[in-house]
Amino acid sequence: MTGTEEGKVLTVLGSTGSIGTQTLDVCRMHGYKIKALTANSSTGLLEKQAREFCPETVCVTDELAFGDMKIRLADTDIKVTCGKEALCDTAALSVDMVINAVVGMVGLEPTLAALNAHNRVGLANKETLVTGGELVKAAEKSNNVDIVPIDSEHSAIFQSLMGNSGNKIEKIILTASGGPFFGYNKERLRTVTMEQALHHPNWSMGRKITTDSATLMNKGLELIEAVRLFDVTPEQVEVVVHRQSILHSAVEYEDGAVIGQLGVPDMKIPIQFAVTYPKRMKSLSGRLSLFDVGTLTFERADEETFVCLAQARKAIAKGGTAPTILNGANEAAVAAFLAGSIPFYRIGELVTACCEALSHIPEVTLDTISEADRAAREYVITEIKKGN
Ligand code: NDP
Ligand code: MG
Repeated sequence: MTGTEEGKVLTVLGSTGSIGTQTLDVCRMHGYKIKALTANSSTGLLEKQAREFCPETVCVTDELAFGDMKIRLADTDIKVTCGKEALCDTAALSVDMVINAVVGMVGLEPTLAALNAHNRVGLANKETLVTGGELVKAAEKSNNVDIVPIDSEHSAIFQSLMGNSGNKIEKIILTASGGPFFGYNKERLRTVTMEQALHHPNWSMGRKITTDSATLMNKGLELIEAVRLFDVTPEQVEVVVHRQSILHSAVEYEDGAVIGQLGVPDMKIPIQFAVTYPKRMKSLSGRLSLFDVGTLTFERADEETFVCLAQARKAIAKGGTAPTILNGANEAAVAAFLAGSIPFYRIGELVTACCEALSHIPEVTLDTISEADRAAREYVITEIKKGN
């Protein structure tokens, strides 16, 4: 570790994804060094990144990708590892910051491993907080290290809280783009295609989060993420549909003042801020012209049509393993949708059915979470097989 801005050393988990590649763009611009990179199975891109950034270690989670990765890097000194345990070991290597940009609940244990090794964490992987929020916050506290959010809304809230420790938050205004199907009713949602679902109006992201944005599950997960990160009640989080994605979220204080963060929709801004926090540095991101934007609009979300958001509210109100059941059902349903096995509208139906069918338990441990996750996935897969 260096502690200095110029010579910062980072590990990027999920370096081949949308957030991972943008993190490496930021590293390239500022000359940060890379200790380790990880992917699931994208060996071609991981090799390219490894040759450019010369990390000590690369890790792939998919066992089939391991042999290929070793062959690809055989002429280098880079260590190649494989599997979930190796991913946690990678997160625990001593660095200035671990960026967690993997997708799905698989990101939870590496987040804990990073914190327990006293590494600061730049957290994009929201499923970490949805499923194991209590464990993660406890690890953050006991190890006395920071988690800096990368999710744009949570970065905006984090920035709006700076300089206000001790001041009471009245509410958090969590903005949502509304996704590609804003204004649709249930009937119309039955006819949408995968291509339409994967075409987000404002952001270019991985396929899973893009689908979550279209169902509004993304906002449901983010509501839970906000409750975990900022220690507020679910009732204090107001979801506001803001189609332009310019106000990235805001905090209302008890005197009525509302402090928010605005900017062009570009994930490199919150990614870079997580690394440079509390400093700010020059970036190549576009600048906001309010004249060009002209109008900012704010509307309510339709939770009767977009049932995933309503289910997320119920899950965080129940607490315990309920958010993990919600998340596991959603991960399984979205994977089935992306594989072409179910139509778009079935995601919300399956998540609702699963959350209603499975009972949660109050204790949150790695064991109870992984059992809740397993049961939720199994429920959804069985329902799909039955043709329900
Ligand atoms: P991508 O799908 O683009 O990338 C995911 C990354 O995780 C890839 O490197 C992928 O490797 C790796 N990965 C996938 N499955 C596994 C696994 N089982 N084990 C280990 N690694 C795995 O996702 P995004 O970058 O879009 O999103 C990452 C996280 O950030 C998500 O939690 C998302 O909700 C959050 N986020 C994303 C935003 C965005 O703009 N994209 C905005 C805000 C939050 P491989 O390439 O080999 O599949
Ligand atoms: Mg977000």
